[in-house]
Amino acid sequence: MIYKRSSALFAEAKQLIPGGVNSPVRAFKAVGGDPIFVKEAKGAYLYDVDGNRLIDYIASWGPLILGHAHEPVLNAIIEKAKKGTSFGMPTEIETELAKLAVSMVPNIDKIRFVNSGTEACMSAVRLARGYTGKDKIIKFTGCYHGHSDSFLIQAGSGAVTFGSPNSPGVTQGTAKDTLLASYNDLESVTQLIEANKGEIAAVIIEPVAGNMGCIIPTDGFIRGLRELCTQNDILLIFDEVMTGFRLGRGGAQEALGIKADILCFGKVIGGGLPVGAFAASTKIMGYLAPEGPVYQAGTLSGNPLAMSAGLAMLTELNNNPAIFTSLQEKTAHLHIGLSKALDKKGIPYQINRFGSMISVHFTDRPVMDFASSATGNNETFKKYFHGMLDQGIYLPPSAFESYFLNDALSYEDLDETIEAVEKLQLD
Ligand code: PLP
Repeated sequence: MIYKRSSALFAEAKQLIPGGVNSPVRAFKAVGGDPIFVKEAKGAYLYDVDGNRLIDYIASWGPLILGHAHEPVLNAIIEKAKKGTSFGMPTEIETELAKLAVSMVPNIDKIRFVNSGTEACMSAVRLARGYTGKDKIIKFTGCYHGHSDSFLIQAGSGAVTFGSPNSPGVTQGTAKDTLLASYNDLESVTQLIEANKGEIAAVIIEPVAGNMGCIIPTDGFIRGLRELCTQNDILLIFDEVMTGFRLGRGGAQEALGIKADILCFGKVIGGGLPVGAFAASTKIMGYLAPEGPVYQAGTLSGNPLAMSAGLAMLTELNNNPAIFTSLQEKTAHLHIGLSKALDKKGIPYQINRFGSMISVHFTDRPVMDFASSATGNNETFKKYFHGMLDQGIYLPPSAFESYFLNDALSYEDLDETIEAVEKLQLD
């Protein structure tokens, strides 16, 4: 495939935008080469500025579960835009989307809309701290909750001591309040709770992780977390920015049969426009301004275009939950096909799948946390990624990202993808 125009646009962008992109993963740093500049997209396909057609397994990193430029979502945005794009005043559609979201998700009474998943997680943690009167939080290494300071933390010198910043600009003061546990390792959480008795406001987790590839919680891990949190007066926050309205109407809570105290949303809930949200019981949400003392705000929060896109998207998912089953079946079909194709290559690999999330890791170790995910062979991954791209298949440009299947993908698209893997030379 030819990427001349993409490369030229990237060179120009780099003169004006740091690294040429507005979000780092788009720059292809992990896989090398220049990123593809997209011109337009429809259904399961991206069309780039060089005229290539790509089958898309990213779907804008998750939001576009019904495919690109999905008519009902598009029409909702267009009709809304004709009536004004932002008011900074309450609108009826905010309550409509709130009503629908609350009816779909178990265990929440009220929801507050923000503009991104980052804002949702950041605000959820502030709410948890305000509600419990405690400062510390536990997060899991390899889980991503957006780029707010409290989450850009790596494990410190001792597992039961403080975290330390993993980006310049995050202060030691902030880092000391974020403790790092290992995914699927309940004992690591118990130790942190024991060492910080009465100081932990919340445990935040991706209930099915998607930011170290797709990682499935082992039996008993999430249930054990729930019990630990309840026993120690700690709020359990499910970051459902990826899983919400993707793993089913009720997201990971429903899929895993476990209830969290605070939920964070993003991606699908905004139908492809910038939306995040956090939600909880009336009691917890009552701590939020203007009702309660915990401050949180946003000039464009509840924006009418974003609400209309989210409402159109959730309405379709709510009215037709068979979409979730169909997506799961397509993902299983892809899983089986990828396995058959990779088996023939004679190289170690793992495939993790949950609902419509799936990822391939080139390692012989079962991938169940960040450490095992990091054992993947990145040289093989690079060959895999570029080999697929050359055949018109757009996969996430990092071994630490999950694919997100969308409803517009046909079985022909999936088979074309599997055939492309068969043709790869990976050793
Ligand atoms: N939480 C999770 C689980 C995510 O995957 C992401 C982004 O990918 C975020 C939070 C942050 O969302 P945003 O990029 O909309 O700020």
